[in-house]
Amino acid sequence: MKKVLVVDDSQTVLIMLRIELEKHSDIEPYFASSYKEAVRLLREHKGDFHAALLDLNLPDAPDGEVVGLANSHNIPSVVLTGTVDEKVQNSILKKDVIDVILKNDPSSIKFAVKDISRTLKNYDTTVLIVDDSKLYRQILRDTLEKIKLNVLEASDGEEALEILSNKENNISLVLTDYEMPKMNGLDLTFKIREKAKKDQLGIIVISSLEAQTTIGKFLKFGANDFINKPFTENEIITRVNSNLELLDLFEKIRDMANKDFLTGAYNRRYFFDSGESLYSKNKRKDTPLAVAMIDIDKFKNINDTYGHDIGDIAIQEVKKILDKNLRTSDLMARFGGEEFCILLEDITLEDTKLLFEKIRENFEENVIDADGTKISYTISTGIYFGFSDSLEDMIRLSDEALYTAKQNGRNRVEIKS
Ligand code: GH3
Ligand code: MG
Ligand code: MG
Ligand code: MG
Repeated sequence: MKKVLVVDDSQTVLIMLRIELEKHSDIEPYFASSYKEAVRLLREHKGDFHAALLDLNLPDAPDGEVVGLANSHNIPSVVLTGTVDEKVQNSILKKDVIDVILKNDPSSIKFAVKDISRTLKNYDTTVLIVDDSKLYRQILRDTLEKIKLNVLEASDGEEALEILSNKENNISLVLTDYEMPKMNGLDLTFKIREKAKKDQLGIIVISSLEAQTTIGKFLKFGANDFINKPFTENEIITRVNSNLELLDLFEKIRDMANKDFLTGAYNRRYFFDSGESLYSKNKRKDTPLAVAMIDIDKFKNINDTYGHDIGDIAIQEVKKILDKNLRTSDLMARFGGEEFCILLEDITLEDTKLLFEKIRENFEENVIDADGTKISYTISTGIYFGFSDSLEDMIRLSDEALYTAKQNGRNRVEIKS
């Protein structure tokens, strides 16, 4: 949850904002109806706000003083105003303000909250700037940091590819210049697209070249958007934010297709899609794989004793415990009911045994507090280690091992190799 400061003297506006903000479970809003109250909230929370939604005209601060107040606490703000005057708007935009929104527009409340929600997501989003000009990198960095993005810089294409290849950098969007030494922006776009698709990593090209053909080429090579130099700060903010929103939407759609709604774990379909390529890759290298099938013991009892909703919480717990113990490279999916399947590469037989024994103990010792009801359960695990004719066959063999684990008394790990 991230705290958001909301200041407006109109009760109607505050109510509308409250309703809109409540739709976002990651936002914790605090409301003030005057400058004085805003000061008090800032003091109480030691300025610990991630964003602010501010009214420009307050009875005790008629000239936008509250914007300066948020600025002095380093809080990015979205300003709501009744003033259409462009001069006034531009002067506010010079301050640390993400957007200025006119109140007379019926959808203004929605837009304002959307801006806030985007800004909060930006705190966990990283953007890479690629430009040989230090000055331009600085200008872009200042603008992007204003909307709270994490910024990395590269001075040419080669350096950019190096930074992108480190998965830990977790870059969502690349802003690249066109003319650069070593590798131009077009070649960089081409190189990036060999590895990352348009719906997974965004590319915005920033160039002073007006030639339409170049723009066309960039789009053909897989750029998501194009910005002409010179640009205004507001243009950068708007384009970057809307591209990030689009990328989030693509991710949501991917998740809906690939993930299980109850636990957020991958589904069976995704497991086979990804698992097949993992299988072929390791078969080529002649390196063994491990397939583990996990099933909750006597799960029917939990459903029968506590009801289906508590049963659901118990299933969600499996995903949590597995997440804690598995590496990001391990492929885990909910196969159905209370059954999970895991495919692991780069692991020895010995380490597989140790890992799943540790996981078994984790469940044995765990007590779940499901809305006040304390429940605990054990799991059985069947593993196949090595290689067989197909991924399906490895899964079948791990299922047989699971059956053996159940036969031999449950709460145990059986390995076939
Ligand atoms: P065993 O130790 O042999 O595995 O016994 P078990 O009771 O766990 O038996 P089994 O695996 O066959 O039982 C699976 C049960 O899981 C049956 C079904 O009612 C329940 N179940 C399947 N999907 C869901 C779900 O999404 N939510 C809940 N709450 N229960 C589910
Ligand atoms: Mg007002
Ligand atoms: Mg079971
Ligand atoms: Mg089962």
